[in-house]
Amino acid sequence: MSTMQTVSEQIKSLVEAGALFVSNHSGGKDSQAMLIRLRELVPAAQMIVVHASLGEMEWPGAMELARDQAAEAGLPFIVARANKTLLEMVQRRYEGRPEVPSWPSASTRQCTSDLKRGPIQREVRRYAKANGYKIIVNCLGLRAQESPGRAKRVPLRLNQRDSNSVNTWYEWLPVHDLSTSDVFQIIEQDGQKPHWAYAEGNDRLSCVFCFMANKHDLKNGKKHRPELFAEYVAMEKLTGYTMHMNRIPLVELVA
Ligand code: SF4
Repeated sequence: MSTMQTVSEQIKSLVEAGALFVSNHSGGKDSQAMLIRLRELVPAAQMIVVHASLGEMEWPGAMELARDQAAEAGLPFIVARANKTLLEMVQRRYEGRPEVPSWPSASTRQCTSDLKRGPIQREVRRYAKANGYKIIVNCLGLRAQESPGRAKRVPLRLNQRDSNSVNTWYEWLPVHDLSTSDVFQIIEQDGQKPHWAYAEGNDRLSCVFCFMANKHDLKNGKKHRPELFAEYVAMEKLTGYTMHMNRIPLVELVA
């Protein structure tokens, strides 16, 4: 692929080369808008939708939204599951190394790597092998406006770390340039509805309780999943570390 090509020219070349496009779908608004955009650019025969299930830890209905959108588009839908939940991961880390913070953080984002990226890669490699794909374009709904770190990401790159003698991996961020209102507008224009938690003011979806969540999202999470909230609070007590990155205990954050 020539570096002189624009991103859309490079994507066209990858489509022509017979690549498999993997639409990562959390059930959130950015994934939803991304899949709408992808359908305009990539033939359905070369696309699958993959959801990394966070099990009990994720917002109810997130997996179903991804599944239904894939079904409406006539695309294969794969659920990738880790062999542990987020709370089990935290507990194991505490038991193995009680002297270091047990919870994931922006710098040690074990949740994303162990619960999402790893299981998704495993499923995609399996699918690619079974269906004869050599080139994989992993599509992520990350947006520049979300954080300075995400703003620095390039919209399309060869992913050397995950490429091997069998598969060549690319990472593509099809909605990198969009604003939050662009995303909601794309969903609405396509006649779809975003997950119901946004209508209740949620900023983000995925885990009900995330170390990066704002207070409103945590409160909303407690309202809808009080039993899960209690499990997180109990895990904070067991480990002696706070879940949230601002180091305030959950009970105080939602007070
Ligand atoms: S939503 Fe937050 S806690 Fe959950 S996997 Fe993603 S980064 Fe980790």
